[in-house]
Amino acid sequence: MQAMSDTPKIARTEQDPRWPAVVARDRAFDGKFVYSVKSTGVYCRPSCASRLAKPENVDFHATREDAEGAGFRPCKRCKPDAPALALRHAAKAAEICRAIESAEDIPSLDALARKAGLSPFHLHRIFTSATGVTPRAYAIACRAKRVRDELARPGATVTEAIYAAGFNSNSRFYEASNQVLGMTPTAYRAGGAGAEIRFAVGECALGSILVARSARGVCAILMGDDADALARDLQDRFPRARLTGGDAGFEDLVAKVVGFVEAPSLGLDLPLDLRGTAFQQRVWRALQEIPAGSTASYAAIAKRIGSPKSVRAVANACAANALAVAIPCHRVVRTDGALSGYRWGVERKRALLDREAQAMAASGVAPASRAPASRNCRTRTGAGGCE
Ligand SMILES: [Zn+2]
Repeated sequence: MQAMSDTPKIARTEQDPRWPAVVARDRAFDGKFVYSVKSTGVYCRPSCASRLAKPENVDFHATREDAEGAGFRPCKRCKPDAPALALRHAAKAAEICRAIESAEDIPSLDALARKAGLSPFHLHRIFTSATGVTPRAYAIACRAKRVRDELARPGATVTEAIYAAGFNSNSRFYEASNQVLGMTPTAYRAGGAGAEIRFAVGECALGSILVARSARGVCAILMGDDADALARDLQDRFPRARLTGGDAGFEDLVAKVVGFVEAPSLGLDLPLDLRGTAFQQRVWRALQEIPAGSTASYAAIAKRIGSPKSVRAVANACAANALAVAIPCHRVVRTDGALSGYRWGVERKRALLDREAQAMAASGVAPASRAPASRNCRTRTGAGGCE
């Protein structure tokens, strides 16, 4: 039943272009206007999920201030006085980030959801859309950072670092550190100390070549014009490692690497000791999948590792590569095909690419085949390794 005097009011509401948005609960109109409901004394966003108000009770207001000025309270359900949903989700995601950062272990989705007052599904969706990573990936990255920070603190013993990083037992920490550092904390702390690195400098068609090996595998292949500069570069890369000259048997290793550099498509039948962040390792593995005789752009590599916006970080990871040719960063070019820089000189890059193209043409092998070199890498992250 409605009073006769309501009729023009109903018509006015129903003819208002904003009314269909309220009926449809159209999110697109949130922030564009609010509507008040006389019978309840509250005002709402257009998308409010509460029962549709009777049109005779509804008034439209351009802003929430207007609605409040007219004596209405914000609805508790759609919170028209709070920031928009996206902002609230961002704030929620930030809150979840803090919870993850302060947790001792990698928190379960259920535990995070309880804390945030959301369902696990909802939390996962909000977090992932706001941050671009899953809660678990974020937790793993946080723990990695905490471990690195603690170990980098001067004067702290490894045991102190373990507790300061929030681990309650040694074994947990060692397990985590092998995942995030790729080595024991003591070895990381020492900047490679304890691990002896043997090296020798040889000559190849592209100039001097330094080959270094740790107990794990070949850890550096550096090229240049000056043998002394190469040795200094090695020292910079492994500041606290014990560097010693290669023994007699080392000649064979250098010869093998030189042979590989001269003809990369043959593959290097030696384990590699890759040292880098998880991101760098992802880039390096992607580089190993570029077949000899072809090239890829930085942008294509960024896309391939699922991080299309990280073109610059990909370029940096290429520059940080210590394993010339074995990690074929020379096969990465600018999007327009230009050679761009090369850690070991752009002329060497050109020479390597020319030679690979010639070898492919001579053998009649289509450059789409996979480079055999990628079989032999052994990464230090343990799980995953080379695909
Ligand atoms: Zn509402």
